[in-house]
Amino acid sequence: MNEEIKRKILEKIESYEKIIVSRHVRPDGDAIGSTKGLVEMLRETYPEKQIYLLNEDYSDYLAFLGGEDEIAENEIDAVYDGALQIVIDTGTENRISNRNYKKAKELIKIDHHIDDRPYGDVSWVEDFRSSACEMIADFYVTFRDRLKMSKQAATYVYCGMVTDSGRFLYDGVTGDTLRLAGALLDLGIDTQTLYANLYTQEFEAFQLKSYVYDHIRITPNGVAYIHMDDAAQKKLNLTLEEASNTVGELNQIRGSLIWLAFIDNQEKCEIRVRLRSRFLSINELANRYHGGGHAQAAGATVYTEEEMQRLIEDADKLLGEFKKANGEKL
Ligand code: AMP
Repeated sequence: MNEEIKRKILEKIESYEKIIVSRHVRPDGDAIGSTKGLVEMLRETYPEKQIYLLNEDYSDYLAFLGGEDEIAENEIDAVYDGALQIVIDTGTENRISNRNYKKAKELIKIDHHIDDRPYGDVSWVEDFRSSACEMIADFYVTFRDRLKMSKQAATYVYCGMVTDSGRFLYDGVTGDTLRLAGALLDLGIDTQTLYANLYTQEFEAFQLKSYVYDHIRITPNGVAYIHMDDAAQKKLNLTLEEASNTVGELNQIRGSLIWLAFIDNQEKCEIRVRLRSRFLSINELANRYHGGGHAQAAGATVYTEEEMQRLIEDADKLLGEFKKANGEKL
């Protein structure tokens, strides 16, 4: 059935003169890689079409992937008039980083998140995929005889596959993931440069790790958490994004099958929560705190330290019940 949807998407792409591509706010490697990869591929394949990559924010740590397009306010209506809008890697409409997306004539959704709030005239959602980039790679491989993928486009798409799958480590990685990554590698990606861009860090980053390791707390049942409060962010001179990324430092503590990072957002008077887990699901928990997401990677928001404590206690209870039913897991 999805073969039919993919074919329909290709037909739509071929029938439009103007195509606008967008992704979710606060983009990660998958959001940027999938959109830039698709745009590059469409520009190569259809040089006569007008293809725009339009979003309203960016993530500085991915600056090495290059920029996106900008149009003047007074050009917006003309650009969107009769255009096809494609949104990738964005589960819900409120997370689209482009408030003008509805001005287009038709909307296509391409995504790998759980489809509990569908949108779009055509929707291709495969929540078993490890990344949206895997879907773009699949789209390319399916229509290889009609689409052109340059080394640069392949690099964008491969970047998203690598980052969203934790370097091909997470559960969603399948034989298909690796076969599709292989098809991209065959196009000659310079992986040494890509990995150096993605994974080397300034010395200050190691000082931050040292702070995080010092401030991790563990609940009785093993939930690991850190509160990157405003004082810590100021002391370590961190952007919100940098403070948020500390969640990744908590992911390898044996017995801590749930780990959480709380990040003060002083400007918005709220605390961002990033929830992660292995073996059990935490998206239900995130749902209860103004959030949602994937089974093992979700986000939420709390507004007071008391609410933060309640979330920690709920996570502890959830992990306690899980361990009771399933025994200790790594
Ligand atoms: P994050 O911790 O921001 O990387 O979020 C992990 C996943 O949870 C993302 O891929 C989103 O799909 C989802 N997510 C994050 N925040 C929210 C939210 N406030 N509401 C719904 N889903 C969210």
